[in-house]
Amino acid sequence: MKTDLSASLFEKARQVIPGGVNSPVRACKSVGCDPLFVRKAKGAVVVDVDGNEFIDFVGSWGPMILGHAHPEVIEAIEKTAVDGTSFGAPTPLEVELAEMVCDSVPSLEKVRFVNSGTEATMSAVRLARGYTGRNVVVKFDGCYHGHADSFLVKAGSGVITLGIPGSPGVPEDIVKNTLSIPYNNVEVLEETLRDEKLDIACVIVEPVAGNMGVVVPEMAFLKKLRELTAELGIVLIFDEVITGFRLALGGAQERFGIMPDLTCLGKIIGGGLPVGAYGGKREIMDQIAPDGPVYQAGTLSGNPLAMAAGLAMLKVVRREGFYRELEEKSDWFAGELAGIAAGAAVPTTLNRIGSMMTCFFTPDPVTDFESAMKADSEMYGRHFRQMLAGGVWLAPSQFEAAFISGAHERSHLEKALEVTEWSFKKLAE
Ligand code: PLP
Repeated sequence: MKTDLSASLFEKARQVIPGGVNSPVRACKSVGCDPLFVRKAKGAVVVDVDGNEFIDFVGSWGPMILGHAHPEVIEAIEKTAVDGTSFGAPTPLEVELAEMVCDSVPSLEKVRFVNSGTEATMSAVRLARGYTGRNVVVKFDGCYHGHADSFLVKAGSGVITLGIPGSPGVPEDIVKNTLSIPYNNVEVLEETLRDEKLDIACVIVEPVAGNMGVVVPEMAFLKKLRELTAELGIVLIFDEVITGFRLALGGAQERFGIMPDLTCLGKIIGGGLPVGAYGGKREIMDQIAPDGPVYQAGTLSGNPLAMAAGLAMLKVVRREGFYRELEEKSDWFAGELAGIAAGAAVPTTLNRIGSMMTCFFTPDPVTDFESAMKADSEMYGRHFRQMLAGGVWLAPSQFEAAFISGAHERSHLEKALEVTEWSFKKLAE
């Protein structure tokens, strides 16, 4: 594969951008190669600057549930752009999107738009603290909630991928207010939440973890989490930045029938433009300025281009049959993939729910951070490079999800399965 242009861009980028990238995992360090620079993408196919084409299972890390450059999303952005790109004043588009989001996500009565998933989680936690008058945030090992200071404690995503235990620059004083406990462990959960000395304001959870690879929650765990937080007056925050509009129109909360107090959204909600949102019960949301005392603001929040892209995206996913078809396609693909894995002399465990999945290179079940860490990252790196050589673009880390989109056709999925079978055979040699 010719990669000269990517190599020369990476060289230039490293002179002026830390690590040559604007988000660490993109540098591909943990999979042992240099990044490819993208020229364009359409549907399920990404084209790099050297002209190589790949079937994409990254989907910009989740947002592209319709595939790339969906005509309705692009048209909405183009139409909106000619009338101006930012006003710092309310627009009709943000009202329309807020109504659509509240109508789609069952527990949302009010929603506030921000510019990223990190802003959404950071603001939701501030709100929970302001609302309860308490300080401590409980999270789960291996869950990632963006890069705000209080979340960089046993975090997932790039923090695991690069083996960073926390982060320099995050003051001890902040970290001491974040408690991280094991995912899917009801006993530790109950013991922690019932400890009155802890002064817990909120629990934030990925209702399906996507950032230590996909880890599906046990229903007993989620139910207990809801029961205990309700009983103890602790705000329950579902971080649905990945799962929102992915696992169902109403996200994981619709799929599992468990309603949080606050929900964080990102990725799909912006149609590929920078949008995040947090929302929930009216009583809590009314604490936000200007109605209440909890401050949160943004120059570009509710940006018209981003709102138009999000609206166009949600209009498509709300169409009859969208999630059913995505589910059927993902189910078929995962079944074939599991068959290939079972026939290969490479030990793997496939975790999947809906259109998100991770093939872990370990024979043992993956149910939490500890078991995820048993996966063989070095073997994943070889698999990643082989898949890339075969024209399939996976996430450059073992601890991420692969996403299927509405744009993946049977032919794309069949080709990806063929390349996977070939790659597994080579790994077993
Ligand atoms: N929460 C979850 C569950 C995420 O997966 C991410 C990003 O991957 C974030 C929050 C942070 O979102 P952003 O990268 O848009 O700041």
